[in-house]
Amino acid sequence: MVSEQCDQNNRIHFFIPFIDSTHRLTTDWLDQQVDDSTRKSRAWCWPTLKFLSYEQGHLLLSNSFQGMSFHLSLQVRHEKLEVYCSCNGPRGKLCQHAYAALYVIVWRLGDLYFHKLIPNGTLDMAMRRKPFFDKIESSAGMDAVPRPELESVFGLMPGAGKLDLPALCKSPDPCPEATPYDRKRVMAYCITVPIMQKMLPGVLPCIGILNKQGSDIRVFQWPSNGMNQISRPSISKWQEELQTNCFELWKMIEKTPGSILTESSDVWGGDCMADIFGIWKAIFPMLSKEPFVYTCPLAGLRALRKNPSRQRLEKICLSPAIPDIRFVLTDKGTYFILQMQVYVLGNKLTAYDTGMTFFIRNQQTLYMLRSLRDAALAAWMQRCGGLITIFKEQFAQFNQEVLTHIQDAYPVKRISGKAQMHA
Ligand SMILES: [Zn+2]
Repeated sequence: MVSEQCDQNNRIHFFIPFIDSTHRLTTDWLDQQVDDSTRKSRAWCWPTLKFLSYEQGHLLLSNSFQGMSFHLSLQVRHEKLEVYCSCNGPRGKLCQHAYAALYVIVWRLGDLYFHKLIPNGTLDMAMRRKPFFDKIESSAGMDAVPRPELESVFGLMPGAGKLDLPALCKSPDPCPEATPYDRKRVMAYCITVPIMQKMLPGVLPCIGILNKQGSDIRVFQWPSNGMNQISRPSISKWQEELQTNCFELWKMIEKTPGSILTESSDVWGGDCMADIFGIWKAIFPMLSKEPFVYTCPLAGLRALRKNPSRQRLEKICLSPAIPDIRFVLTDKGTYFILQMQVYVLGNKLTAYDTGMTFFIRNQQTLYMLRSLRDAALAAWMQRCGGLITIFKEQFAQFNQEVLTHIQDAYPVKRISGKAQMHA
């Protein structure tokens, strides 16, 4: 395994093969390179090594033990470690000084230390690029590491392994259709909130020009003359279907009353309201997956002639959770109070807004009601100001005309006045 060679000055150089191409040497491997007597000898064990010089891949150390000292020269050459000890010791086997010194180096500085000695290796670079490396002298000789702020130094990244970049960068993008964004223009959706309930809520797809962070839209353009005439961003099949539904919904709400209730609080008849609700039920989950959905107060159709101003729009999150309607009847002594409550995922919303037909709004979150029935009842309660007061002498009539029916469909909790505020 260990071979040797004499130079012109008759000095014996030993050559130890590395375990692999990473110039690895282990203590076990070193043990296999010497005979039993060298391995077990206590005449030269755990010597102290001192750095003397490094030049062109040639590391020179002093190798001392109990007052005696030799020079040890190390160099990586032809995928082997060339070793010279100044004892010029026994022919035919590695001397015990060199064996013990190498053992100390591998033990203290690691199996891969000799990789640092190769041309452009860490020690080589550390000698040439002094400010960029920390040199660490110890009784095992000299080690070097790149300065921490350099993180990985190209060519010295054994820990990073080798990434197969040619294969990686040639592999096809698995979902080329998933990001139909161009860099600045995106599809946005404005949920119109008609003022004074002149119309039902609708959705208008529009073109948004993104801010620098890509997180919000700074400019909106209505599809005023139909989507096809505007230079629009490319859209996915999914978005195309959504747009078709939005325009169909828009056509219907244009010819439908703005409230689910008539002026005398009857529920509007006809299939139209149910159809609109049905389209909304289909659109809502699709919209909830879109990143740019806004609410937009709409005074009338004329307002659509101008592009909407950013200040009037509010970004909104569409929740897939379906709100539950419940009621609470509070006994206040001389009168009762009936209030509607909205629960989402079992939790009561402390504040909610029923101003948008079909929806419950809680700050920047919009929930779609379960049914037309819920929507009509929420609209009726809104018309009542959110709260009904019933004097006791009228309770029997209220019970017969209102409460009995509500109780058939919704939970009604009765509480005494003392706990009223926390109902
Ligand atoms: Zn020796």
